[in-house]
Amino acid sequence: MDGNIIDIKRFTIHDGDGIRSTLFLKGCALRCAWCHNPEGVENSVDLWYFPRQCIRCRACLEACPENALHADEEGETFIWINRQRCTKCGRCVQACPTAALSFDGRRLSSDEAVATLLRDKPFYDESGGGVTISGGDPLVQSAFALEILRRCKEAGVHTAIETCLQGPWETVEEFLPATDLFIVDLKLADSGQHREYTGQGNELIRENYGKLAVQARRLGRDLLTRIPMIPRVTATRENVGAIARFVREHNPGGRVELINFNPLAESKYLLMNRDEGFFQNMAPLGAPELEIFYGMLEAEVLEAVREHRL
Ligand code: SF4
Ligand code: SF4
Repeated sequence: MDGNIIDIKRFTIHDGDGIRSTLFLKGCALRCAWCHNPEGVENSVDLWYFPRQCIRCRACLEACPENALHADEEGETFIWINRQRCTKCGRCVQACPTAALSFDGRRLSSDEAVATLLRDKPFYDESGGGVTISGGDPLVQSAFALEILRRCKEAGVHTAIETCLQGPWETVEEFLPATDLFIVDLKLADSGQHREYTGQGNELIRENYGKLAVQARRLGRDLLTRIPMIPRVTATRENVGAIARFVREHNPGGRVELINFNPLAESKYLLMNRDEGFFQNMAPLGAPELEIFYGMLEAEVLEAVREHRL
């Protein structure tokens, strides 16, 4: 079976316990305004052009067998891609001397993915680590993700997924036998705001979270809840307090981690030629401010996880 991936990162330490390898899949049901992996939103491998890296050498134009590229001699953007004509053959990417053209992911077989992920098993064993499937969201390419998780688990490796739970419960449920740790992002407690900033209301996520918490307890699976701290959006007392009460109700005593705002995402958006306006004047929260929010979690008798910043 093949799937669309962004990348596999080895020796990660932020996506679960110990030393891990993280497979980033393409495709997500949400469209978060602050997404730190914008190349993971669509479940397709796309060709990107980065004008700032282009030296206008024309090598790509000569390499393309489909006549899918044209040059605008006068414009700020030199190369334009006709996506109807492009067959994603990759010849322009190979021809470009400055990586101004590149794909935002690749097709990979589950055999290749498992072979790469199991390569570092001795390190997982030594450190209490394992394999994490992130994205995007693993629920989108669930059959591909599940095959990989099952085979890793059969090999004795700890498995985790990072998900927003925006998908049918039947799909979430399928992950229970193959997943040791569910890392679940809860973003906004108010459904209207959730829709405004992610494109979807949060009713399905809330329902799935409640069901997952019950099943995780029953089957002995771990559940780590994460809240992204986006200044003025999710990082408000009202929102963190409401999420903390929700988690206490469904997953009493559960572990909750706050993920501080990541300014690196802005440069990624710039590189991808997308609108970065959302990030203007945003900065990561300072330690005292974060502590106030952690205190709100602890006030609901939740276990606050203070480990790192993504
Ligand atoms: S990927 Fe292939 S078809 Fe598409 S623009 Fe590049 S060379 Fe042309
Ligand atoms: S090959 Fe690369 S650097 Fe040269 S014109 Fe094309 S995109 Fe620009």
